[in-house]
Amino acid sequence: MTSTWTEPSNTATALLLLGRGSDPATERGVDCPGDLPAPSDPGLVERAAAAKAALGDRLFVLGHHYQRDEVIAFADVTGDSFKLAREAAARPAAEFIVFCGVHFMAESADILTGDDQAVILPDLAAGCSMADMAVLGQVETAWETLTDLGLAGDVVPVTYMNSSADIKGFVGRHGGVVCTSSNAERALRWAYEQGSKVLFLPDQHLGRNTAVLELGFALGDCVLYDPHKPGGGLTPEQLRDAKMILWRGHCSVHGRFTLDSVNEVRSRVPGVRVLVHPECRHEVVTAADEVGSTEYIIKAIEAAPPGTAWAVGTELNLVRRLALAHPEQQIMFLDRAVCYCSTMNRIDLPHLVWALEELVAGRVPNRITVDAETAAYARKALDQMLALP
Ligand code: SF4
Repeated sequence: MTSTWTEPSNTATALLLLGRGSDPATERGVDCPGDLPAPSDPGLVERAAAAKAALGDRLFVLGHHYQRDEVIAFADVTGDSFKLAREAAARPAAEFIVFCGVHFMAESADILTGDDQAVILPDLAAGCSMADMAVLGQVETAWETLTDLGLAGDVVPVTYMNSSADIKGFVGRHGGVVCTSSNAERALRWAYEQGSKVLFLPDQHLGRNTAVLELGFALGDCVLYDPHKPGGGLTPEQLRDAKMILWRGHCSVHGRFTLDSVNEVRSRVPGVRVLVHPECRHEVVTAADEVGSTEYIIKAIEAAPPGTAWAVGTELNLVRRLALAHPEQQIMFLDRAVCYCSTMNRIDLPHLVWALEELVAGRVPNRITVDAETAAYARKALDQMLALP
């Protein structure tokens, strides 16, 4: 059977991310000193292969599931952010860890690897809009508000893996835990054994979906703290009554799926199963047939019987790869329009070639480092996650 994959409609932004067209008004934010190859260079694949071969066992390349195919082709291992951080930690002999993902992932890899190992992000502009929605100063202000109300002693901070090292460090300093989309339920159950309230950072949707769907909370048990408003935009009574204080952050990719997307695909494809990531909005998750992490989505598709139809609500690069790998199923993107993670897509073959050739030349480009104190507290919160029952 041939693949039934249908490419979603292109948008102008998506075409730019794919390297077609150019936007002179776009500020990339960082320079890559030296020879950054052009995207059209026909020798890029050979250059990447040659540089990788020259570095041999000194190099380990990690590729997040949302990366482009041209980058995934050079990854020694692929996975979600947590799996990749663990893979990095399990390679103490690798001198260079090239992280094809986004900034917070490279920070976690640096925290979990030795001081003699360099973690490299091929394009420093590859950040994460969700992680950027929780800044340390804002979180400290929120904690002061809770302290002034006499509530901080009851609150356990929990942060999603998709947060900066600063935020993980804050959470470790205040006795909290890091979680992933795979273990958020276990992390929250542990947190509610330590205190009566949780401050969940930075993804409101993962926090709300886990609290309501896994822990059985009412929506009214959750409040939304807006860091751009005094007191988070909440009254002292709302903060006192809440069991779950959700930070107002979201993923700009998963936040795009709507209830309309779900209804539209169900009317168009009879019998379709809707499979979404828990970073999607609550109404999307409750309307879906299955919800789970990136690794869960991959396993669900791999285990599905031939002939089944799936509308998948996660990043487009992964959905397209799953569709092409499973032509025996009808796999489609949940939305009609293209939606890439724009920051993940910053890592392209020219940047990978540039980073690898710099290493071959004896220069270490774009090294990501976390200061020792922040790393120690962040490690505490990560270790607490690893120790979850
Ligand atoms: S998909 Fe969402 S959470 Fe993941 S890196 Fe992109 S913006 Fe951040």
